[in-house]
Amino acid sequence: MAGMRAMLLEAPGRPLRLAELAIPTPGPGEVLVKVLACGVCRTDLHLVDGELPEPKLPVVPGHEIVGEVAGLGAGVAGLAIGQRVGVPWLGRTCGVCRFCRSQRENLCDDPLFTGYTRDGGYAEYTLADARYCFPLPPGDPVAQAPLLCAGLIGFRAYRMAGEAKRLGIYGFGAAAHILAQIARADGREVYAFTRPGDRAAQAFARRLGVAWAGGSDEPAPVPLDAAIVFAPVGALVPAALRAVDKGGVVVLGGIHMSDIPAFPYRILWEERVVRSVANLTRADGLGLFDKLARTPVATETVRYPLEAANEALAALRDGRLQGAAVLIL
Ligand SMILES: [Zn+2]
Ligand SMILES: [Zn+2]
Repeated sequence: MAGMRAMLLEAPGRPLRLAELAIPTPGPGEVLVKVLACGVCRTDLHLVDGELPEPKLPVVPGHEIVGEVAGLGAGVAGLAIGQRVGVPWLGRTCGVCRFCRSQRENLCDDPLFTGYTRDGGYAEYTLADARYCFPLPPGDPVAQAPLLCAGLIGFRAYRMAGEAKRLGIYGFGAAAHILAQIARADGREVYAFTRPGDRAAQAFARRLGVAWAGGSDEPAPVPLDAAIVFAPVGALVPAALRAVDKGGVVVLGGIHMSDIPAFPYRILWEERVVRSVANLTRADGLGLFDKLARTPVATETVRYPLEAANEALAALRDGRLQGAAVLIL
């Protein structure tokens, strides 16, 4: 049986191990995807650190997969061998629960998530349910990879933020750098809040055309209509609430966050809203890729070979990345 290289998480808290695995065979409804590039997402860090409950173990992480269809299981329609596809976090949903039946498949009661409860893209090949793959246009697969989660979750968070003219973004990493470009193209003003003193991230944000960039310990220069918090730091929730105007929305974009400190009711008063964003729907993906066809964004990436996945995760953990880390296969 032909083999493939994969980076394997055997237990939380341990580094990933380079392993030789058999190339899997697609079952009914599945495609075999030859991975070209796979982005490294903060959720992968939470997985490795044991902050997500009940992962499949061992598991191949990675849910920002750009690849080519290399094999078709029985009954697959609409995808062909050699076609460029993206495989996102949402790996499968049940289709019958009340969430699936009300356009909220992101909240499905019985889902599978790529690189968490099914194997993902830190490998030369992976399997995916064909119905959850997105056909992608040709182009640099490394530049496309961050769109598959940072782009998608950022876009869903952006939709949740409503028609905000003045949009704050807390945490200026992979998701923020994509979203800032989309928001700017839509005529929004973006206010970027970085780690205090992170001049490099603030300069990066300014290069992308934000109206203002500063530290998350600084007050917003104007009252904001909405804010999105991508950094997994609970203390930013009251900070963002203080920055939004009456009726403002604070959207929390991460899967995991440190505890949110107590805060006075008056900063929530006047119909301010705090809400999280969970996962994505296929409609979010179609909406994003449709928008990108008209509004191209440039993703900033740092490339790592597959075997250096642990170094990529360490760089993300330490805040040393500008843009998104991507493993190249
Ligand atoms: Zn469901
Ligand atoms: Zn992700």
